[in-house]
Amino acid sequence: MNRIALFPGSFDPVTIGHVDIVNRSLSLFDNIVIGIGVNSSKKTLYTTEKRKEWLGKVFEGKEQVSVEQYEGLTVDFCREIGANFILRGLRTSADFEFERSIAQMNRSMQEDIETVFVLSSPGLSAVNSSIVREIIKNGGEASKFVPAGIDLSLG
Ligand code: ADP
Repeated sequence: MNRIALFPGSFDPVTIGHVDIVNRSLSLFDNIVIGIGVNSSKKTLYTTEKRKEWLGKVFEGKEQVSVEQYEGLTVDFCREIGANFILRGLRTSADFEFERSIAQMNRSMQEDIETVFVLSSPGLSAVNSSIVREIIKNGGEASKFVPAGIDLSLG
């Protein structure tokens, strides 16, 4: 059986924290699908197209990794793509509390999908897309928190 993991998130924008989680999880799974969750009622700083393009560029040449967008329940999308694992990163105890409820709810909806948590690397636990967005909105320099080659300029 192929081990396929969905790594869901908003990636608004992708950060070095996200990249670290994917790279360190490559040995655990045959394939990792990065799933950009699209929620039409949630406003994002960058368009879905832009976020998808960035992720594609970051993982270009890594055959194990692909990038998709999806709407609706994460477990439904897992079923659609044949993923039997959900991959999530853990930074803090606050992440843990939040992630625990989601993982347990997902498990009660779909028993055969297991959520796997990977702890952030030391030094990356403070890297957070929402703080990166605040820096950008306020005209600060956020490039060191995102992978090389990503142009964060707005508009
Ligand atoms: P964020 O929580 O930063 O807004 P996402 O919603 O895109 O980002 O999160 C997608 C996944 O990546 C989540 O599991 C989140 O916990 C994880 N993640 C984000 N940043 C980091 C980091 N610095 N270290 C470990 N995991 C992270």
